[in-house]
Amino acid sequence: MTVRTGSCLCGARAYEIDGDLDGVWVCHCSLCRKASGSNGNAILIVPVDRFRWVKGEDHGVTFALRETYSITRCRTCGTPLPAETDARNVYVTAGTLDEPLGKGVRTHLFCASRADWDRDEPDARSFDERPTRSG
Ligand SMILES: [Zn+2]
Ligand SMILES: [Zn+2]
Repeated sequence: MTVRTGSCLCGARAYEIDGDLDGVWVCHCSLCRKASGSNGNAILIVPVDRFRWVKGEDHGVTFALRETYSITRCRTCGTPLPAETDARNVYVTAGTLDEPLGKGVRTHLFCASRADWDRDEPDARSFDERPTRSG
């Protein structure tokens, strides 16, 4: 069986996921945009019995932003990881996977709340690495 690993930027927190995953959900709601400081949250929805912490389970700090919305970040580096849990699933921040997933985005949520800049301009540039100079 496939076992995937993930971790925060500083390595204090790490987890494993058993089995294959369906793909990524991206939530563009205003809470996810604010909480991430970006275009939203990219999430893997993982059944609780297939997710386990291998390090740093208690090394997070949780911010209860709303009654039904909270985020947990690494106490040392601030990486959001994973998102939250309900009775059946763990909501794992996809950017914390250590290795390629082999699947892409399957679902976009709250597209009506999407930031108007969350798209490429026709002349958008792409670099494989950081460009050597700006402009
Ligand atoms: Zn960390
Ligand atoms: Zn959201």
